[in-house]
Amino acid sequence: MLDTELGGQIRSAVRDLCGTFPDTYWREVDESRGYPEKFVQALTDAGWLAALIPEEYGGSGLGIAEASIILEEVNRSGGNSGACHAQMYIMGTLLRHGSEKQKREYLPRIASGELRLQSFGVTEPTTGTDTTKLKTTAVRKGDHYVVNGQKVWISRVQHSDLLLLLARTTPLNEVKKKSDGLSVFLVDLREASESELTVRPIRNMMNHETNELFFDNLKVPAENLIGEEGRGFRYILDGMNAERILIAAECVGDGYWFVDRASSYAKERVVFDRPIGQNQGIQFPIARAYVNIEAANLMRFRAAELFDTGKPCGAEANMAKLLAADASWEAANVAVQTYGGFGFAAEFDIERKFRETKLYQVAPISTNLILSFIGEHVLGMPRSF
Ligand SMILES: Cc1cc2nc3c(=O)[nH]c(=O)nc-3n(C[C@H](O)[C@H](O)[C@H](O)COP(=O)(O)OP(=O)(O)OC[C@H]3O[C@@H](n4cnc5c(N)ncnc54)[C@H](O)[C@@H]3O)c2cc1C
Repeated sequence: MLDTELGGQIRSAVRDLCGTFPDTYWREVDESRGYPEKFVQALTDAGWLAALIPEEYGGSGLGIAEASIILEEVNRSGGNSGACHAQMYIMGTLLRHGSEKQKREYLPRIASGELRLQSFGVTEPTTGTDTTKLKTTAVRKGDHYVVNGQKVWISRVQHSDLLLLLARTTPLNEVKKKSDGLSVFLVDLREASESELTVRPIRNMMNHETNELFFDNLKVPAENLIGEEGRGFRYILDGMNAERILIAAECVGDGYWFVDRASSYAKERVVFDRPIGQNQGIQFPIARAYVNIEAANLMRFRAAELFDTGKPCGAEANMAKLLAADASWEAANVAVQTYGGFGFAAEFDIERKFRETKLYQVAPISTNLILSFIGEHVLGMPRSF
């Protein structure tokens, strides 16, 4: 599954497209805290964001391995997939659990770029990682649900038409299992009035459009419920492996970018009359970072292969995400060290990518939670929470 012929063609086409968005483009977007609209549009127009949508719904029906190459290349080019990656994995919930009517209505328009499904509303300020305790409620009133509550860190809402929302439809004290009673809705953000939905941007470490959301009697048509009421948590879990593999690929892309930059700089920068890369104190950390990226990359493709052949891949997808996030973060630190003072200067882009890749230690799943998954579900140790 490692770089098939198709994978190679995709890699080279995406690389060409990304080549038209140089460092200066990403630097300017970062400095102005803007949204990379031109880039996202170009990626959409070329059909890359519809890679995982089946052909019958207007997409290209590719596997996760190929889709992951697209996001890897974006990050490897110096860009940031975080502006648009969610569409790839959120769409899976609609595809797997939506009705035929919902799929026919939304997927072709998402594939063509007419609609953006870029937002995913799960995290809440008071409950955080403890998802099943989330407090946002959706109460059925005739032909619609009424949503009340609060979400935090909900990304790309200002640049999305649709939001996939997880809310509680049966109170926690009335369900047998805490994962029951949660439901998933497709919220049309264009129809939400300002009084029903307040969007408060959160200024953060990188240039990442993310927000606090306040729902005040937001009406969502009952026909926008995805699948069965009360089964939403499982539906979200079903999408996690795809998300983990895609994020792992982005981290691999970041990692290679840092190593490319650091090794080039180490060859060119002369101090004490010799290239700094001649010193093993500079050379070895770059080499070690490269080794770790290569290893993480193997696990990423192993997870993708299992996923694409319909085999269980929870352990591999989680391990790929952890290994790749750690490898990219190691490479980021090594790059800053190699560049010395210039590692901190915006014009070299290292500091920007350093900030961007740090996110993957925490979101969309933190390292601790992956370790807990492996400890409990792979190694059979006692549950810690
Ligand atoms: C830039 C950004 C974008 C995001 N985008 C989205 C989005 O679009 N949609 C969305 O729903 N969410 C989004 N998130 C939220 C993200 O998924 C959460 O931040 C992440 O899951 C961690 O949750 P938390 O921040 O509430 O941390 P907490 O749950 O408060 O945890 C804090 C720390 O404690 C650790 N911890 C907690 N419990 C345990 C335990 N039992 N054992 C060991 N360690 C533990 C965590 O791993 C974490 O490191 C985004 C976050 C950021 C920063």
